[in-house]
Amino acid sequence: MTEELAPRDAYLRECPAVVVGVTPGGVILDRTVFYPRGGGQPGDTGVLEWAGGRAVVTDTVREAGEVLHVMPAEEAPPVGAAVRAAIDWERRHLLMRTHTALHVLSALVWREYGAKVTGGNMEPGAARMDFELEAMSAEFGREVEERLNAMLSAPHAVRVMSLPRADALADPDLIRTKVSLIPEHVDPIRVVDIAGLDRQADGGTHVADTAEVGRVRVVKTESKGKGNQRMRIELDARPA
Ligand SMILES: [Zn+2]
Repeated sequence: MTEELAPRDAYLRECPAVVVGVTPGGVILDRTVFYPRGGGQPGDTGVLEWAGGRAVVTDTVREAGEVLHVMPAEEAPPVGAAVRAAIDWERRHLLMRTHTALHVLSALVWREYGAKVTGGNMEPGAARMDFELEAMSAEFGREVEERLNAMLSAPHAVRVMSLPRADALADPDLIRTKVSLIPEHVDPIRVVDIAGLDRQADGGTHVADTAEVGRVRVVKTESKGKGNQRMRIELDARPA
């Protein structure tokens, strides 16, 4: 099993590691800073470097319980090689900002409009989120944008916590975000807490404070059917 460093420290950009396996799909390391695709967050990209070689990691996925650094097998370092594993930090940081923005957006729409999230997707700097709403006007989008930016720009610390499953199941915010659907053997549960705004069971990477997200624009609102309204957001390329 690979020791995964990103869930503990999202700001680690690289680590030394040893290759413990090579599959047709990619490379398995003893430890890694790469985040494997999951929970709506795309997998990291980056490079592995070793004495005499360098290979680009085009994606990171979880396969049969292992974190796979995706690359063609013929480009992979040999098993046993000591490598430097480094993520594409600019892309990851943009994903961290995007992910935190989505959590605050979901909390805002729940609190102010009483609507739950029905789906979502994120890319670096752009995302969509679907809400259980009957309608969503452009005016609504502008109002949400204004409120979202006000919430983000006031500093709110983002903390990762480990909660005993019994406590998580009793927490109103976590109930709303369907913590009960997490498989029963998962205990404790990793929770991302945005001070005073939002709490969700989550495996992803986030910025340390909402002010680091920068400015968010609501770029589109559209209906995907009854009780399902979609909002698209984009982040400024660099935080303010
Ligand atoms: Zn999340």
